[in-house]
Order: sequence, then structure tokens, then C-alpha cells
Amino acid sequence: MREYDAVVIGGGPAGMTAALYLLRAGVRTAMIEKLSPGGQVLLTSEIENYPGFPEGLQGWELSDKFSAHLDNYELDRINDEVRSITVGKTIHEIAVGDEVVGAKVIVLASGARYRKLGVPGEDRLLGRGVSYCALCDGNFFRDREVAVVGGGNSALEEALYLARLCSKVHLIHRRDEFRGLFCYQDKCFKHDKINVIRSTVVEEIVGGDDLEALALKNVKTGEKSRLELDGCFIFVGFEPIMDFVPEDVKRDPNGILTDQEMRTSVPGIFAAGDIRSKMCRQVATAVGDGATAATAAFSYLEQMGY
Ligand code: NAP
Repeated sequence: MREYDAVVIGGGPAGMTAALYLLRAGVRTAMIEKLSPGGQVLLTSEIENYPGFPEGLQGWELSDKFSAHLDNYELDRINDEVRSITVGKTIHEIAVGDEVVGAKVIVLASGARYRKLGVPGEDRLLGRGVSYCALCDGNFFRDREVAVVGGGNSALEEALYLARLCSKVHLIHRRDEFRGLFCYQDKCFKHDKINVIRSTVVEEIVGGDDLEALALKNVKTGEKSRLELDGCFIFVGFEPIMDFVPEDVKRDPNGILTDQEMRTSVPGIFAAGDIRSKMCRQVATAVGDGATAATAAFSYLEQMGY
């Protein structure tokens, strides 16, 4: 069994920052990432609120910078999926791909995955008009008409991105008030290509081989309608990826519970970024979590005399 002092699970901003801090403290570290480093940032078109980049930058650019920073240190990168963790007294065992890797400390930073709307037609028409990633699929809908479902920052930001490509974007939200930041709301409401549809839910995504329309219902009046379009982008939030995390690690429906030092309920296991139960999910807070988790993990290693 390969054994490390620290294993970071997840290569998004939280994981990459945790790995950076651990490596700089001289800790023998591996980082496990099933795809490319970057996490959700890779699916984000433009990042305008990460300090130090006043002009904004593309998600992949920021992620490349994080990853390049790690290249200055000796990090073992394992590209595979974690299946489970077995909690040990001194060494925790991580089943990843076909092997088991040992770790004195683990930083859980596997992030979150998009939440589904849960309506008929959503699964069947995935990739045939239904998408959860404007950056990946927006180009297929160039000069065509699409809907964006949701009222948070993701929905607003991605509606603005899609409005650059598509002929029309219907922004459909289940309430009158939007959860996303005022600056994005303002841009959406003023945009001549964005049609805002409030207090409305999608009851069904309709189509044969491809998406043809959305069956809508106004939740105030009960009125039902059909909106003909080519694509539907769903941004109704995220749920933490914690399927592989053992039950001993306490959680609530929003994610893993930690204290201020990012310690979980299991000694030697820390959590950082979107996997945590927390309010503010941003690249900036993920980076802060990663640095805090790594610092606490280093103290733990020292206290245990490792
Ligand atoms: P979010 O903030 O949780 O918003 C989810 C939106 O989807 C809400 O408006 C919610 O409606 C709606 N919704 C949830 N379930 C629904 C359903 N079944 N049917 C219809 N609508 C539904 O999620 P997010 O926008 O993906 O953002 C996630 C986190 O990342 C947030 O902390 C956000 O601030 C952050 N983020 C930040 C930025 C940025 O700062 N630039 C960009 C993207 C994301 P209600 O409002 O009625 O609950």
C-alpha cells in the first residue's frame, strides 16, 4: 500500500490550496482528482470576483494558474475516483481506482455536483437539449432560443453568458425575488435578449428525439403554458459530493460539518470548500478553507508526533 502523510481528495481551488500549503510545510502529499484539476471552476465562463484579477478571467485560466503553482513542489497526483475511505487509528485507507492508499491525514475537498430539477423529460433529453453547463454546451445553441432555470448566481451569470451566443434566453425562476447578486440581476433585467419569467416552475421538459418545449406553470395564478425552444440550461444549485465519505464523518443535508479549523468529527480528517456545510460557496472561500484545513492538518501531524 502506498502511504502518504497527507492525501487531499479533490483538485478544485480548495484541494489545490490545501495541497500547496501542505507541500510548503514539507508534508509528503498526494492529491486525488478524477478528472482534470479545477473542479467546477473549469465549468465557469468568467470569474470576476477573485481578488487580484480586476479584469476577470476564464475559469480554466484560474485553474491552470493554481495547478501550475503546484508544479513547483513534489506532489503525487493520482487521477482516479475515490470509492471509499476506511477510518483507521493512525492510518486512514482510501480505496481509489484499483488500489488502496494510506494517509495519516485526509483533506476532503471533492466539491459539489449540480442538482437536478427532477421533472419528467430531464434525464431522457440530457444532451439533446438539456444541459447543466453553459460553457460546455452553449455553442450548440448559437443563434437559437434557450431557457435558463434558476434564480441564483449561477443561473444569472450563465444567462448572461448564453445571451452572447443565443438569439433569446428565457430566465425562468420559481419566485419573484432572485437569490443571485444584485449586479447580475441588474444586467439580466436590462439585457434585451433576456426574457425574465418569474413565479414559474417547469413541470415537464417536452420532446421526441430532441427538446422541443417546456411545460410551465405560474405558481401564483396556476396558469399553464408551453414555451417552444431549443435548449434548457438548469442551474438550481449544487449538492456536495460525499458518497464515498464514511458515516462516522458527521454531516447535514448541505455537506460535511466542520469546526473553524476545518476539522471534521473524525480525528485526522479535514474538509474544505464546497463539500462543507456552509453558506458562502466561492473560489475565494474555497481557497481560505483549503489553507485553513492544511494548517490544521499540519498541526495535527505534529501533535501526533508523525
Ligand atoms: P443557489 O445559490 O443555491 O441557487 C439555486 C437557485 O435555484 C435558487 O434560486 C433556487 O430557488 C432555485 N431552485 C432550487 N431548486 C429548485 C427547483 N427544484 N426548481 C426550481 N428552482 C429551484 O445555487 P447556485 O446559483 O448554483 O450557486 C451555488 C453557490 O455558488 C452559491 O453560494 C453562489 O453564491 C455561488 N456562486 C457564486 C458565483 C459568483 O459569486 N460569481 C457564481 C456562481 C455561483 P429559490 O431562490 O427559490 O430557493
